[in-house]
Amino acid sequence: MEEKTLFEKILAGEIPSEKVYEDDIVYAFKDINPQAPVHTLVIPKTKWRGFPDFENSSSEAIGEYMKGIARVAKELGLEEGGYRVVFNWGDDAQQTVQYVHAHIIGGRQLTWPPG
Ligand code: 5GP
Repeated sequence: MEEKTLFEKILAGEIPSEKVYEDDIVYAFKDINPQAPVHTLVIPKTKWRGFPDFENSSSEAIGEYMKGIARVAKELGLEEGGYRVVFNWGDDAQQTVQYVHAHIIGGRQLTWPPG
């Protein structure tokens, strides 16, 4: 069997994390190396390794995940001021964990373009 990724272990409670929100669709926890006052990772309970997996997944499941990310941002109090959602896929984007995760980044004025 394939070795579990770090985020699957966090989801299973095998590795501790600072949970900020959870429901049937998503699990959200603080990034260990925050890049802004708010830096939360939102992982789906459906296993997707990365964006290429979306092509063969149901639109409904992907849509529910997106709605889950929006719920977490609202819970974090970011809806009014705004926030950035980042997905990294692959080496050029420096994805380090092979399990889909959204970075919700906010709580300060963000700059553009990103590095
Ligand atoms: P990626 O570069 O794959 O898009 O993002 C992975 C993120 O996971 C990074 O921002 C990194 O700081 C975070 N991270 C790595 N290991 C851990 C961990 O053990 N716990 C938590 N909470 N975050 C982690």
